[in-house]
Amino acid sequence: MARKSRTGPTSASAAPSAEPVKARGRLWVGAAVLILAVVLFGAAGFVLRRRAVTVQRDPGLSVLLVTIDTLRADALGSYGKADAGTPTLDRLAAEGVRFERAHAQNVITLPSHANILSGRYPFDHGIRDNAGFRFPAGSDTLATLLKARGFHTGAFVSAFPLDSRFGLDRGFDVYDDRFGDRGSHTAFRMEERPGGETMSAALRWLGAQGSSPTFCWVHVYEPHFPYTPPEPFASRYRDDPYQGEVATADSILKPLLEPILDAGRGGRTLVVMTADHGEARGEHGEMTHGIFAYEGTLHVPLVFYQPTLLAPRTVASPVRHVDLLPTILDALGVAAPAGLPGRSVLALAEGGEADAAESYFESLSASVNRGWAPLQGVVRDGFKFIDLPLPELYDLGRDPKEETNLATSRADLMEPMRRELSRFRAADRGLQRSEENAETLARLRALGYLSGAASGAAPTARKHYTADDDPKRLIALDAQIQEVIGLYAKGDLSGALALCREIVRRRPDMPLSLVHLAFLERETGNLREAVKALRQALTLNPEDSDVVGLLAAYLNESGEPRETLRLAEPYVRKKDPDLDILVAQGVALASVGRPREAMTAFERVRQIDPSSVMALVNIGTVHLMAGDLDRAQQAFEAALDLDQGTARAHNSLGVVAARRGRMEEAAAHWRKAVELDPRDYQTLFNLGTLLLRQGHVEEARSCLERYVQEAPVALEGRDIARVKAWLARPSGRALPPASD
Ligand SMILES: [Zn+2]
Repeated sequence: MARKSRTGPTSASAAPSAEPVKARGRLWVGAAVLILAVVLFGAAGFVLRRRAVTVQRDPGLSVLLVTIDTLRADALGSYGKADAGTPTLDRLAAEGVRFERAHAQNVITLPSHANILSGRYPFDHGIRDNAGFRFPAGSDTLATLLKARGFHTGAFVSAFPLDSRFGLDRGFDVYDDRFGDRGSHTAFRMEERPGGETMSAALRWLGAQGSSPTFCWVHVYEPHFPYTPPEPFASRYRDDPYQGEVATADSILKPLLEPILDAGRGGRTLVVMTADHGEARGEHGEMTHGIFAYEGTLHVPLVFYQPTLLAPRTVASPVRHVDLLPTILDALGVAAPAGLPGRSVLALAEGGEADAAESYFESLSASVNRGWAPLQGVVRDGFKFIDLPLPELYDLGRDPKEETNLATSRADLMEPMRRELSRFRAADRGLQRSEENAETLARLRALGYLSGAASGAAPTARKHYTADDDPKRLIALDAQIQEVIGLYAKGDLSGALALCREIVRRRPDMPLSLVHLAFLERETGNLREAVKALRQALTLNPEDSDVVGLLAAYLNESGEPRETLRLAEPYVRKKDPDLDILVAQGVALASVGRPREAMTAFERVRQIDPSSVMALVNIGTVHLMAGDLDRAQQAFEAALDLDQGTARAHNSLGVVAARRGRMEEAAAHWRKAVELDPRDYQTLFNLGTLLLRQGHVEEARSCLERYVQEAPVALEGRDIARVKAWLARPSGRALPPASD
């Protein structure tokens, strides 16, 4: 019987098993990459009035940068939270220098980490959102600068927005972004790994570096939504699971930080701890983060710890993420590169004083993927100006919750800040298309994907924004978008779909909701509607390679690989194409019988992202389709060498073993795959039918019941019917034949 392979045309083979074995090179939906021109911005005026403070430096120190995702400053005990459950971080703050007023420049993960690592503002390095941008290859970061000085460099990150494909891996000897094949990626959820796993990897690496100075960056994702803390924090923070995740993050960091703290003045590590952004937690109507830039998300914790350099202190002067790189370099006695906006705050940490330190910030995601008005602003002298169609001005000292908008009553204060912002804006080329992207758009237009002059423009340049586009007026819509996600997470697919359709009806120009709609339509088996929604999203924002990658994947699933190839062509011509589009192109090429070109596409993926297990699994799948079991096995095993947690590699190795007639080996691989990804319907089917043949009826039934729950009806309708028939009358060691 033939084996099914969702990479496209099924290669018939002499299968030893009685059932078709499912092994598709499933597409891994990721984010997009886009290189923007780099602009340099001159140093903003942050002048340290150097009181007679002695600033110590030590070139021999190691550096440990800890970033805790989505951590509000006021969620830590050291920042005033009662029963915070953060003893280790509080001890770090008590024995180090704690900055009371530190600001991020962005409110989402990738741009914010780019700011921290590069010391540059987002309009300078060009990363404005979590997807669609790539850190410029010519720009230095802490990693490139310290590696050049002989440091051993290692990064251990916990979530997809920091995947090496976005370019922050340069300069790191080791960039550990093995989030694994957790099988949980949906349009609503990013891949992530538990902080404990990240921590173990970091500790192993640190332990192997001997006496050389190291630069180690550890990123934990724990407080990020969804809030599902493990015990004992789940029980202890039953009424506040966000705080439970904060406490979890603290406990995860303990084995890393405690030995450094215990070493005291004998230690040789400078620790810098901060968050990429906070969490709104319902303030101003925002549930998580990424829309507004109120203090709940913009204000971050910041602690420096190195007792031989820095005495314990609390610093009230405002500091910024862009100050971190110059400060860390300064502590090591290294001059910062010219042209950076930030300054070393080492003198502040020693009790010195500082003049005005205006801090630029932005939140552009809602503009990029929803078409809402872009948000930019400035904090200066305790006032915060937010430039939107309905502008906002707050006195942070008197009104830390930003409840009284002074924009109208204090225009005298607002206008200078508006001028300040326009100084930053002068260096901002916006989300302009590079020449390469203009060419892509022209090709898309020629292919009929875009029509009219208006479409195809970058969203932030698309139109004049009015009060109706102000996120303050639209935040209720955000709550509904969150509700769609919540309904889906609860298993209410039809409820989620109905609400999502309603949102799209009310505001049809939001690419994000069209992507959600597409995802939900596909889940209900309606691939045609899914493709339609994505085409509409593409028209609104053809530069969003996330949308293109997803559309290409769905076209492959719809059995339209030739359409995939037409769509992908303008994008894969780029020097640095998006990985998911390349993968979709590879899958389509394999489907139309062009395996060599498919291999070329997957090899390009590996060139861009050498740690891509997805590329290896797909390469193995093409070999498998060609019947080359040896090469297929090699590729799948190489994927496992990169990441033991790759469920799909185990599933495919099971297929290889089955084709060789080694059914026990196949069963072992499939059991492992199911353990790693209990929702992978393909493996559930493979394992269930094999167990059935082997007479393990009860275990087979359990697999097949889960298969029926997980398998998409549109793709698996026939087999679902057969499995259901068997489950209703479990007789025999095989499924009944298809009834049509
Ligand atoms: Zn984040």
